[in-house]
Amino acid sequence: MKPKKEIDMTGEVCVRCCTGQLEAVCEREYFRHGQALVIIEDVPAWVCHKCGERYHHAHVYKRMRQIAAQSDQITEHVRVPVAHYQEEGTA
Ligand SMILES: [Zn+2]
Repeated sequence: MKPKKEIDMTGEVCVRCCTGQLEAVCEREYFRHGQALVIIEDVPAWVCHKCGERYHHAHVYKRMRQIAAQSDQITEHVRVPVAHYQEEGTA
């Protein structure tokens, strides 16, 4: 299978805010898979300078879904504290 031609969105104008420019980054993504939240490190993405909107290549998104679905790709588990919001004095 031939690798697909990579589309580089670097420097393109953000379609959300229509003013910011996109910058290529490699970041941590929080990917929801069913009830679980899977953190995937070093995911290639583009981020808008101005509004912070993130863009992923379609194949990257597909790959994240695959990784999230495959438990053997999970290298570590982190406990994430979850709190419920409560107004002061109601507890
Ligand atoms: Zn933007």
